[in-house]
Amino acid sequence: MSRYGVLGQPFDQAQWHPYAPNLQEDRTPWSCATAAGESLMDLHESEDLVRFRAEAVAWLDAHAPRPGSAGDFTVGRERPFVDGCRRWQATLSEAGWAGVAWPVDFGGQGRSALFELVFRREQARYGVSTAAFDVGIGMVGPTLMVHGTDAQKASHLPALLRGEEVWCQMFSEPGAGSDLAGLSTAARRRPGGWTINGQKVWTSYARFADFAILLARSDAARPKHHGLTCFLVDMRTPGIEIRPIPQMNGAAEFNQVFLTDVEIPDDAVLGEVDGGWAVANTMLGSERGLVGEEWPGVAELCQIARARGRATDPLVRQGIAGTFVREQILHYLDLRIQSRLGNGEPVGALASVFNLFFADHLRRSGNVAASLLGPGMLTAPSQIGLAGRWQFHLLTAPSVRIASGTDEIQRNILGERALGLPREPRPEPGSSDPSLRPAPARSQA
Ligand SMILES: Cc1cc2nc3c(=O)[nH]c(=O)nc-3n(C[C@H](O)[C@H](O)[C@H](O)COP(=O)(O)OP(=O)(O)OC[C@H]3O[C@@H](n4cnc5c(N)ncnc54)[C@H](O)[C@@H]3O)c2cc1C
Repeated sequence: MSRYGVLGQPFDQAQWHPYAPNLQEDRTPWSCATAAGESLMDLHESEDLVRFRAEAVAWLDAHAPRPGSAGDFTVGRERPFVDGCRRWQATLSEAGWAGVAWPVDFGGQGRSALFELVFRREQARYGVSTAAFDVGIGMVGPTLMVHGTDAQKASHLPALLRGEEVWCQMFSEPGAGSDLAGLSTAARRRPGGWTINGQKVWTSYARFADFAILLARSDAARPKHHGLTCFLVDMRTPGIEIRPIPQMNGAAEFNQVFLTDVEIPDDAVLGEVDGGWAVANTMLGSERGLVGEEWPGVAELCQIARARGRATDPLVRQGIAGTFVREQILHYLDLRIQSRLGNGEPVGALASVFNLFFADHLRRSGNVAASLLGPGMLTAPSQIGLAGRWQFHLLTAPSVRIASGTDEIQRNILGERALGLPREPRPEPGSSDPSLRPAPARSQA
């Protein structure tokens, strides 16, 4: 118990490894499997991984600012945050820590996704972030590797790892979110390229982005999944107007994007013309909640409980213990997903389990913090410091229930694919009954 920091004891942040406590100490090689022999995950931390973690921690200690210190840029989602992400990504790149799980051929370290996870978890303990590259490095890069031409890869992959290109994802529209394939932004052919007209919404980081992946309808006559094309769009192209949407957490992370007669060249097509649905699915397949990324958790709750003299309050202890248990569950869910990815297996409905559980966890841990901090949590003057970080958490966590597929869509996936329940009613072709919702396209990744 002592290694988790008993509430009554001084808390040693340096020894805090919330996501891998057992892996640190119990090095017995073992794996976990179902009764049918299906391998669920490998819990053995190899010598290589132990060494990697130690090197990462030593390097981060020497180069990354502490949370709350002068160099901490992780507050909010505005330009200083994005600029901080760019600088930090460049630092990672120069020091050889960028693209841990990217193939060596594309400038990465060629390690497994587990190494990437370990690095990100360790990095999350410092006042740094790479969140502005979640779309670019986490989603666009892997999509380019699969669908991009050699020229597209050469032009963008190295620049992404060096922190030179922030990307956004222009998929959702006012009339197409869960039912993404129903989108209506039009891509019309013209000599030498395409003309784009339409509107996108909820586009994270659009204001700060250099490039976007755009999904548009290139053939309105074909069935909706077959008439879509993906494009790589320079965000400085004339005809792109970006309007930020203020959020209750004080940031304006996402935006409306209006596209009026935007002319893009032929070589901006990513993948096949009218084959955009496959490209979009590759991209959505990389979209997943990022546990341990800048979200405060048990360590911060313990700190507050002690500072406020509430560490012996049974209800507070119960809330903190519950948070700890959920963090562990998330850790093992994540390991299962990483093991599947590492084995080249599809993640399947596990991604929905993870997303649902993660969103619920954030809501519950925010409530524990609110019960400890009281109204001070909402009146904290800035989002620096413990109360401020929890304020940002409380006001941001609800969005996790919507982003990358809503809770309802995740439940549909679990019902249909994991539990084998009857499929949700779909409209017959040509049906005009509005009560029959279309298939949850965003969930098809
Ligand atoms: C923080 C955040 C960041 C985002 N960033 C981006 C981004 O960068 N780029 C981008 O393209 N998009 C982005 N999005 C948009 C996001 O993908 C969509 O909001 C999401 O897919 C839901 O679509 P919608 O908002 O149109 O809701 P709708 O699809 O209209 O859903 C409305 C309600 O109906 C329910 N519903 C819909 N269909 C079904 C069904 N079949 N069964 C049961 N219930 C259903 C939904 O669960 C929801 O409660 C972001 C969203 C958030 C919150």
